[in-house]
Amino acid sequence: MHESDTQAEARKYAQSAHVHMEKRGIPATPNNYQVWYAYAAQSLPDLSVMIDELDRDGDKFTDVVCADLHRQFFTTHDTDDALNDIVQRLQVELGDVVSFVGTAGEGTSEYAKSLSNLHQDLVSSNGVDGIKTAIAKLITATHGVEKTNMTLNAKLAKTSKEVSEMRGNLDTLRQEAFTDGLTGIANRRKFDMELKARMQDAFHDNSHLCLMLLDIDFFKKFNDTYGHQTGDLVLKLLAGILDKSIRHWHTAARYGGEEFAIIMPDTNVNDARQLAEDIRVKVSTHKLVNRSTNQNLGKITISSGISQFAHGETLEELIKRADKALYAAKDQGRNRVVTY
Ligand code: GH3
Ligand code: MG
Ligand code: MG
Repeated sequence: MHESDTQAEARKYAQSAHVHMEKRGIPATPNNYQVWYAYAAQSLPDLSVMIDELDRDGDKFTDVVCADLHRQFFTTHDTDDALNDIVQRLQVELGDVVSFVGTAGEGTSEYAKSLSNLHQDLVSSNGVDGIKTAIAKLITATHGVEKTNMTLNAKLAKTSKEVSEMRGNLDTLRQEAFTDGLTGIANRRKFDMELKARMQDAFHDNSHLCLMLLDIDFFKKFNDTYGHQTGDLVLKLLAGILDKSIRHWHTAARYGGEEFAIIMPDTNVNDARQLAEDIRVKVSTHKLVNRSTNQNLGKITISSGISQFAHGETLEELIKRADKALYAAKDQGRNRVVTY
């Protein structure tokens, strides 16, 4: 439920989510419920578009499709939960240490006081016995501080271990939050951030920036013929080809279901077109074989649209122009590259 939904709205969306799931034979698991509640509430426009497309194409909402929808739109919440957990652990851990350091500090100033008392004792004592007593006192006071320090050291060592473990977890989480679960390349979130940042660079440096959108041709038919899971393997394969083909300063991302994007800073439109063409040929000549069954799956092709950043334009405009070029590539017969 979204925080801002009133109770009446929430009830309406919940009922509607049930109807949607029942109509499509989808089991009402918590994850599916989350997806269809959002669909009923129209709270995620991209999700709604994707579901409408699946409906329009008559696709079955198999467990795999449902899991994929959930993964694409909701996994970031898991990340947030995990992040909160780490922050909470860190707070407890640091709180412990801070209060202990306070106690240890008091112990140390006690020690300083004992030392100065002992100094006085030594100055005023002239017999061996007096010195012996003073030394015994000193040893006792020193042991006390040592004990406190040992406990503090042990505590600090434990905390430092915990904190570095949490830092590791954070790095993993950050990595996961920006990675597409299926293909392992950048996800849509990372794409949006990266494109924004690279557009700012291009704006300030007056440098070239190109954007490529790629879409698999007739992928619905491929899925229908070989199954959604085999389709998923093709998405992974394509992501691998993109990853290997781009320059190290480019970013390849999964933009949506079967659409990918490449952000190309410091790249002029001719080089961008050449890269797109290389990828197109690599993909269209790659013989697809299902390794577990040895089944020949034929080949796939892709269409690409390229836009070049025009000084001062918005992110939406840049994407829209690449998308228009992509549609033109589809229109002109697919398996081709079009530059806006
Ligand atoms: P076009 O050449 O016009 O792009 O035709 P198309 O069939 O590829 O395009 P359309 O947009 O009609 O269908 C896209 C298909 O992509 C529908 C959907 O089943 C499939 N698809 C989207 N996301 C995934 C996914 O994560 N895994 C698999 N296997 N298929 C997906
Ligand atoms: Mg598409
Ligand atoms: Mg397609």
